[in-house]
Amino acid sequence: MEVTKICCIGAGYVGGPTMAVIAQKCPHIQVTVVDLNEQRIKDWNDPDTNNIPIYEPGLSEIVAEARGRNLFFSTEVEKAIDEAQVIFISVNTPTKTYGKGKGMAADLKYIELCARQIAKVAKENKIVVEKSTLPVRTAEAIKSILDNTGNGVQFQILSNPEFLAEGTAVTDLLNPDRILIGGDTTPEGEAAINALVDVYANWVSKDKILTTNVWSSELSKLTANAFLAQRISSINAMSELCEKTGADVSEVARAIGMDSRIGSKFLKASVGFGGSCFQKDILNLVYIAKSYGLNEVADYWEQVIIMNDHQKRRFSNKIVQTLYNTVADKKITFLGWAFKKDTNDTRESAAIYVADDLINEQAKISVYDPKVSRNKMLADLNYLESRSVEENNNAILAFDNPYDACKGSHAISILTEWDEFVAYDWQKIYDSMHKPAFLFDGRNILNAKELESIGFVYKGIGS
Ligand code: ADP
Repeated sequence: MEVTKICCIGAGYVGGPTMAVIAQKCPHIQVTVVDLNEQRIKDWNDPDTNNIPIYEPGLSEIVAEARGRNLFFSTEVEKAIDEAQVIFISVNTPTKTYGKGKGMAADLKYIELCARQIAKVAKENKIVVEKSTLPVRTAEAIKSILDNTGNGVQFQILSNPEFLAEGTAVTDLLNPDRILIGGDTTPEGEAAINALVDVYANWVSKDKILTTNVWSSELSKLTANAFLAQRISSINAMSELCEKTGADVSEVARAIGMDSRIGSKFLKASVGFGGSCFQKDILNLVYIAKSYGLNEVADYWEQVIIMNDHQKRRFSNKIVQTLYNTVADKKITFLGWAFKKDTNDTRESAAIYVADDLINEQAKISVYDPKVSRNKMLADLNYLESRSVEENNNAILAFDNPYDACKGSHAISILTEWDEFVAYDWQKIYDSMHKPAFLFDGRNILNAKELESIGFVYKGIGS
């Protein structure tokens, strides 16, 4: 089957960039991205592509090229489903905040709504592709809904997890390490797999396109994220030991990274990982393992999260302790709020938790982030429900300029590794601060010696 029309449900961090790249690389395929959120679609259709709702290097250029040609953003969900041969589901699957599996299991209500909508609308056979990260065996649930509520048409469900990293989504999509497609081993399943392989083969060489059964594909995504997060928690665990023993975690990371079996990537100690995926996927894994009675497996992976929570808390404790055990009414400036550089995504960002701890200690937080608005910062804090909206409102000040944010502060802490932070005039910042001027580098991006020679009391992670 030759695919000529694709629909993607969900215009978020996964759906938006992925579909933009498919549209750019496959001009013969019409790609329509739909979302219930009208404002989001309006923003994707902003005449100035610099204003699209998701910031990723290179993305606005691709949208400028393809939008209106074969890439469309719309709220007409049913029309797009009806017309497409292939439907990607890229809706959000947050951790459940209620009921059974609360705080652990994935909330599949958006997925189920999508499946029911597809079943209602589809009048011809469709290929439905799971793009969101999902617990193992979700495809089975989707299939059951489609087969039992549909109009008697045939559905093939494929799992095609997204491996892009935020901040480098466009280059990851253009040059993926691999594309993974899971499907049924029946002839119809194989035909569906091949149809999707042919879409990617427009720009990805076939030896990088892996095909597996649905469950292997679903579990591979969770496993990849669990391994990646585990490396960060492992090096972060060593960072605490380094601080006690006089070793330097950057030196340790370099030394072990040169072992080709270990490799050098993802060994940077920090204030802790964030993002919508790592924690959620590991919690999912833990939940699934527990539900099969595999308690040792569950405990093993849960420790990655426990270590990460500890690392965030340790960072805020260190700030309080260093500032003579009180930060009450002190101005603490955060450079960075996003969970990593080159994205405006703040979900599960370490900054949120560190801010929450410091606000409990009655600190006043000033924030500068090149891509995050104050509204988003407040929404992130309010989501924790630690205190009233008004109290959060009074505790957070946001600035458009880093120098104003730092002026008059008792301490600065770096929460995101934005490149621009390194290039600042640190002497000027030092001159504008209370003394002693403390600098807590939660990302180890600044040069400790240079800052100390200016006069800062510099505290990195793991040294
Ligand atoms: P991700 O990082 O997984 O892409 P996002 O939250 O950025 O997650 O994006 C998911 C998008 O899916 C949101 O914009 C949300 O409005 C949209 N969405 C959720 N459910 C539906 C639905 N049933 N139909 C259309 N869009 C939906």
